Amino acid sequence: MSASEPPPLRRVLTCGVRTWRFFLAVLFCFVLGSITAWGPVLAGDSSAAAALKLIQARRYGEAYPSIFSLAAASPKDMSLQYYLGLCAMNVHNLPLAELAFARIIVRSPAQDPFAVAAKKALATFRSQLMPYSSLCNNKSLRWSPQAMPLRIWMSDGRTLPAPYVGCIMDAATYQAATNVLQSGGSLSVTPSYDPAYRQSALAGLRWWDWAVKEGIFSYVFTDSPRDADIVVLFVEHPPLKKAGYTLYPYANHQPCIVQLECALSDGITRAFKVHSMEYIMAHELGHSLGLGHSNNRSDLMTPGDEKDTGTAPAAPVTACSENDRASLRAIYSMPPDAYFVSARK
Ligand SMILES: [Zn+2]
Repeated sequence: MSASEPPPLRRVLTCGVRTWRFFLAVLFCFVLGSITAWGPVLAGDSSAAAALKLIQARRYGEAYPSIFSLAAASPKDMSLQYYLGLCAMNVHNLPLAELAFARIIVRSPAQDPFAVAAKKALATFRSQLMPYSSLCNNKSLRWSPQAMPLRIWMSDGRTLPAPYVGCIMDAATYQAATNVLQSGGSLSVTPSYDPAYRQSALAGLRWWDWAVKEGIFSYVFTDSPRDADIVVLFVEHPPLKKAGYTLYPYANHQPCIVQLECALSDGITRAFKVHSMEYIMAHELGHSLGLGHSNNRSDLMTPGDEKDTGTAPAAPVTACSENDRASLRAIYSMPPDAYFVSARK
């Protein structure tokens, strides 16, 4: 993915069907200040029906235990996440409220009414959190727990053969590139590569140490692309003119491929390139973990500097923001539409 659109993910391991059964009720809640129409929701589910009656009466604290259980049983039901957020707010469990609303936002299109409602709800209490949509081709994506620890190959300046460099690949091309990586053949070093770039990129990985400490993901380094889940390559002037790219796998046992531009363009010094490589790698790892782009310039996952290949001043962002953190926590706290699975067979 990255600044450019990723190739379509053709293989969907689990099918996520959005549940809209409470959607009208949610809109009424905001527009009228009270829920005036429920419709035949959860017919036959007495505990859910009872919980909904409590919410209708704004007895959120009483509804909380039931909604909590229902949301845990159906974590991809965004309407339940919304009610969980409302109930959590009312019992002053603000971290859970933030998490519930963030879950809605990360797995919805930015302008989705549900996401808009969740953003408004976040704004009603102390939270200044602004999680962002992380859908890829309308799918939420993340690594499978079984893929941990992720194996990262931070190459020493290696690049793929020309047909695979810095471009969007279709499924067949991606498989061919994967074959090149996993066959053990030698890869050439990109001419403008500087070992300092690799060191800087390694530092970029450490921007995510907080998530490792929280147990969201883990990684180890591998010295070969054969078994790597995330492959980091270095390229010259990529056709798409981006400072960094992350391409998502189409199928099981394919890696995420990250490509970092090395060549210096007008006005870009080596020192700047070394400096910016850390930021670019941190951003691309965010994509590799399943994050999309933020519109907030204070977030690591804003796409600006990635798009202009470093012609802007050094990014002021020096760490993952609270928005980046909340978005990743939300993604990894519920099942996705599709998992990335280990590249190991
Ligand atoms: Zn990006």
